[in-house]
Amino acid sequence: MIAEVADCGVAQAKLAADNAQRGFEAWRKTTAFERSALLKAWHQAMMEAKEVLAVTMSREMGKPIREARGEVDYAASFLEWYAEQAKRVDGDILPSQHPDKRLAVLRQPVGPVLAITPWNFPAAMITRKVAPGLAAGCSVIVKPAEQAPVTALLLAQLWQQAGGPAEVFQVITAERPAAVSDVLMEDRRIRKVTFTGSTPVGKHLYAKSAATMKRMSLELGGHAPFLVFDDADIEAAVAEVMASKFRNGGQTCVCANRIYVQRGILDAFSERLTAAVDELRVGQPDDETTQIGPLVSQAGRNKAQSHIDDALAKGARRLTAEREVDGFFVAPTVLADVTNDMQIMQEETFGPVAPLIAFDSEEEAVAAANATPFGLAAYLWTRNLGRAARVSEALDYGIVGVNDGAPSVPQAPFGGVKDSGLGREGGRYGIDEYLDTKFVSTRLDG
Ligand code: NAD
Repeated sequence: MIAEVADCGVAQAKLAADNAQRGFEAWRKTTAFERSALLKAWHQAMMEAKEVLAVTMSREMGKPIREARGEVDYAASFLEWYAEQAKRVDGDILPSQHPDKRLAVLRQPVGPVLAITPWNFPAAMITRKVAPGLAAGCSVIVKPAEQAPVTALLLAQLWQQAGGPAEVFQVITAERPAAVSDVLMEDRRIRKVTFTGSTPVGKHLYAKSAATMKRMSLELGGHAPFLVFDDADIEAAVAEVMASKFRNGGQTCVCANRIYVQRGILDAFSERLTAAVDELRVGQPDDETTQIGPLVSQAGRNKAQSHIDDALAKGARRLTAEREVDGFFVAPTVLADVTNDMQIMQEETFGPVAPLIAFDSEEEAVAAANATPFGLAAYLWTRNLGRAARVSEALDYGIVGVNDGAPSVPQAPFGGVKDSGLGREGGRYGIDEYLDTKFVSTRLDG
């Protein structure tokens, strides 16, 4: 155990909603320039606290320390970007067919927001929601994951240190999330819910939101295909699979979960990937050389291990060397001869396991990639420009990386289709989720 935090329930949830409503009334009256200045100050405070934040999240959920520092930079980049974007939320004046009427379109904050976040990126999943929300003029209550509440509390502390009002950004920690979220979901004053997490919980919240007609953004599970065509630069493709699949121990919603390789290059690709995975350093998260840390929990470890065991039992071959691991660790693994009846082909693994599947034609690869209820991120590797365009257009996904295994940047829209959710985070698209459109029609007197 690294810390104890409050276990909030119904009473604290009601209090948070009261505060958020009061915070919103004041915050919505601030100018975009004031909000921008505060977000900039928060960004500065976050960068000054980079090491504390990185060490905290690494201890909370096992992310290797070097990756944790990278996450702080990524998380802070949303504060900086939305500090700038706050000043660019504008409206429209429409031409009128009536000489005595003026037609204006205003964009106004939706109101108090509830943000529910997961443990796998304990800082970035918060700032990607809170920064656009605050920039738009909303107040935000964050309910962080039970596994990583301290990072969230530190972010709120830094916000206040930077001069941010406490009622405008609150964190409510809870061991039983439903107790808190039920109160806030039923509260009519909470006008928007933004959720990142698993698809079943996302669907449950979506159904609940109907009663009070809340705006919803849902960033849910993925099952990303990674297509490597035989004209690809194999070395580069292997390097990017390593980055995409093994970052955060494979506990990433956009990480490659199904690696389809065209038959002509399958042996060369498998050999290089296996060699690279065998070299990965498994170790404690605070060791500067660690590349693969423990998974977040016993349940997380068991799920990833069961995907390996199930695949081996159904005829897959392990290409990587066996390693002795214990506790929450799973040995980074490459599997060959993987078939569709294996669990790993049907569900998100959330662990360091790379299954390889052979394909022959472009049509076959696209059809296999799309044959899933999920649609978050997909990747393709080719040097053929026509194929890159055709396949990226045909993939039924919210994000496509073409010869790029790490497409996330603060200015781009991030989000999925189908069971991977709705709405987008990041860029000018991300702030729209926190704005309502109001039409003002004015008849001039005289
Ligand atoms: P989870 O759904 O169990 O938990 C996510 C959050 O929801 C946590 O804060 C949790 O406390 C809360 N929660 C759980 N049950 C709840 C309920 N009944 N009512 C209200 N809140 C509840 O997911 P997880 O295991 O923590 O996170 C991993 C999942 O998140 C994966 O499926 C992953 O793909 C997804 N994810 C998606 C994105 C994305 O942007 N699409 C990013 C990161 C993670």
